[in-house]
Amino acid sequence: MSYVDEVLELVRKKNASEPEFLQAVDEVLNSLRPVIEANEELYKREAILERIIEPERQIKFRVPWVDDKGQVQVNTGYRVQFNSAIGPYKGGLRLHPSVNTGIIKFLGFEQIFKNSLTGLPIGGGKGGADFDPKGKSDREVMAFCQSFITELYKYIGADTDVPAGDIGTGAREIGYMYGQYKRLTGLYEGVLTGKGLTYGGSLARTEATGYGLLYFTDEMLKSNGKSLEGKTVVVSGAGNVATYAIQKAWQLGAKPVTCSDSTGWIYDPDGIDVATLIEVKQVKRARLTEYKAMRPNAEYHEGKGVWTVKCDVALPCATQNELDLDDAKALVANGCFAVAEGANMPTTMEATKYFQENGVLFAPGKASNAGGVATSALEMSQNSERLSWTFEEVDSKLKNIMINIFHNADEAAKKYGCPGDYVAGANIAGFEKVVTAMLAQGVV
Ligand code: NDP
Repeated sequence: MSYVDEVLELVRKKNASEPEFLQAVDEVLNSLRPVIEANEELYKREAILERIIEPERQIKFRVPWVDDKGQVQVNTGYRVQFNSAIGPYKGGLRLHPSVNTGIIKFLGFEQIFKNSLTGLPIGGGKGGADFDPKGKSDREVMAFCQSFITELYKYIGADTDVPAGDIGTGAREIGYMYGQYKRLTGLYEGVLTGKGLTYGGSLARTEATGYGLLYFTDEMLKSNGKSLEGKTVVVSGAGNVATYAIQKAWQLGAKPVTCSDSTGWIYDPDGIDVATLIEVKQVKRARLTEYKAMRPNAEYHEGKGVWTVKCDVALPCATQNELDLDDAKALVANGCFAVAEGANMPTTMEATKYFQENGVLFAPGKASNAGGVATSALEMSQNSERLSWTFEEVDSKLKNIMINIFHNADEAAKKYGCPGDYVAGANIAGFEKVVTAMLAQGVV
């Protein structure tokens, strides 16, 4: 049995109840086979794979808080500090009822390679809680965030672990968390990213993941003799990533026609109106039915369905496993020629394989959505320097980073005999740097 197969067997035995984590490990280790086989003896002796699949530390804690009726509520908080070989742990905090150990581990594992790909000195981590900010008052969200940080503050810091936003954690939540961290520690330091502009946040951080996704997609298309100009784009999600992906798609000459949330989706034949989307989702925190009310020409549909819309390019920007094999078949049948992931692992393994076998250009999230964490690292640099860069400075650094990530993944895929396979390319390029650092640092 090969070393990769031995470790896959081990990981399945040890983590049987964590399907998302197993899916992420399966995808990464399988695509690393050519690299591992080239150095199998060394990697096996050093137990590199056993070490890379085991978090350095996992923290799980109780988060009690009082709701508006005076009732005590209890949530479970998590932080997985996965790998610090190349820098302090860095990765978002997800607040969603579906959060559990396996989901945080899958996200933390992906984060190791994503952060490495950015070329910046950041290790991999992820956290969150099974708390649902939806329908809660601002006071309830503050009570939760303060309680969450009252435990988590012991384990994070500007040079140790720097969390950021993710699903359910936006500027409001980061603000409450930062305030409580400062109160508990007395430190005014860059311990969280995604902060407001008046207290250490970076310009362009809000837009970074969506913009970065489009910079990556644009570069991937150009390298393959295509362009975004005049193309129809379907997008899922209506949150941070989706909104700014839609905005940048317009700016690059494409027409984004869909968006979705957890209850339904919009098809707007005139193209999604960004100002309306922001008003509905960020200001009113309402459902997409409200978008339809403000744009009567648009169609609203209950449930899932954006992937049935005819398009050239598809950008899944909502959540994991939201695009399955049937969706992939519908997209290919409708002429879609490129898919770039804005969310983390939104495409199932079967769907990814189908796209690749049918000649669709496929960008994996750990490469194409790395603009968010890259700009978070730029926020850390500005905090350390006690300086603020302009929007244009940050945006141009982001664009260069995304172009470099594309070319690093592209070249790694070519070097290991799988040209055009950006999934393998991204995993290989991310892995090589982390492993070199792990070997240099000894058995830790
Ligand atoms: P938001 O909370 O801002 O938005 C998430 C969107 O996805 C919302 O429209 C939400 O619907 C929808 N959604 C969430 N869960 C589900 C579900 N189970 N089924 C259907 N729809 C769902 O999150 P982000 O935009 O920040 O994150 C989206 C994805 O991008 C995640 O996978 C995240 O990990 C990833 N990502 C985010 C980064 C960032 O910088 N924010 C960086 C890199 C990756 P509703 O409005 O109903 O809640």
